[in-house]
Amino acid sequence: MIPCPLCTGHATRNVYQSDAAFLGNMTHDSILFTLELCLTCGFVYQSSAYQPEYQSLMSQAYAKYDVNSHFPFPDRSEKNTAPLERILAYGRPGHESPSILEIGSNRGDLLYLLKERLPQANILGLEPTNFNNLSVPTVHANFRADLFSNRFDIIIMKHVLEHLPYPRSVATDLFHRLNPGGILYIEVPDLQLSLEHGAEDFVPDHVSYFTGETLADCLDQFAIIHQDRSNFLSVVATHRLSTDVREVRQSAPSTTLLTDHFVQFDADKKRLSDAIVTHAKGGGSIIFYGISYYFNRLFKELLNQGLPRERCFHFDDNFQGTQEPGFGLPRLSPFADDGQSGAMIVLCSNNFRVQKQMATHLIHGGFQGHLLYPWSNLVPNAGQPT
Ligand SMILES: [Zn+2]
Repeated sequence: MIPCPLCTGHATRNVYQSDAAFLGNMTHDSILFTLELCLTCGFVYQSSAYQPEYQSLMSQAYAKYDVNSHFPFPDRSEKNTAPLERILAYGRPGHESPSILEIGSNRGDLLYLLKERLPQANILGLEPTNFNNLSVPTVHANFRADLFSNRFDIIIMKHVLEHLPYPRSVATDLFHRLNPGGILYIEVPDLQLSLEHGAEDFVPDHVSYFTGETLADCLDQFAIIHQDRSNFLSVVATHRLSTDVREVRQSAPSTTLLTDHFVQFDADKKRLSDAIVTHAKGGGSIIFYGISYYFNRLFKELLNQGLPRERCFHFDDNFQGTQEPGFGLPRLSPFADDGQSGAMIVLCSNNFRVQKQMATHLIHGGFQGHLLYPWSNLVPNAGQPT
């Protein structure tokens, strides 16, 4: 058994296991995927990720991460503007041309938006995948502290830390690459919020599953000056000075609460998967709203459960093509005046606030079918979003 990567404790409880998961375009059943909960510090981690088979699968899967290339650049949606405003609010170092490093910069949308607002800034992206439509200076590499001899005024790591097996050593490397007075911005999924809102549970490419408490434990060399849990979990942190007193967590981790959430999540997922497959097998239409990475994974899982793909369609506000690029699903408008009043629409986002915005858009547009929030709720005849 892998000891807890955060506190090295050996007392753990299994909270999830599955012998099949979807990575890239294939199902992989050669690995038993397992999540463990550390009974000492409350950290949840994928213990199956610490083996060579997993690492070779993941390097193949990451090579295919290109779904964003179908959307306009730069993406000015909340997923970039919310971090942008938080970084600008706290990341104002004394001089006029701050150096900014984003680790896992993807296409560079956020760096591009930062450069618009801080024209004197020196920006650099680090991105292991081989996107070729980049609009900001980017090095294709994984983050290693020894890649750089300099330090940065702002370091950004958005939806990256959860993919890494040894987050504590990453935090130490980040500490040494951050200028004194500089800020670190980290954003990860919030495990507790995701489970409570039925947004996501096990994701094969996520190794570390943080809560506010365990992320703070991981970053214990830093002083956290801002935390936001409104949809994902984000923190702004600076170097902790030796005079700073760190609050020591007094309460025991809520292990029962987390395991209960996993059990409830599984039950909801089964119930709602069955509802989708049954609706389609009965001749009803299923419209997947939002065709990013979350949709790809969800759709593959549902196909595996017998979903007839000829009853499936796509719709996306930002993608106007007639065929969705992953599976070739035809576009079908979900609005009532297009004659789709019996359709079931699946809100494909792992962000529950985005799910609500999508629902509001549909209802104001006159949608008359069944709305499905994976995996929390099915709203018959599109009532008000809950
Ligand atoms: Zn632990």
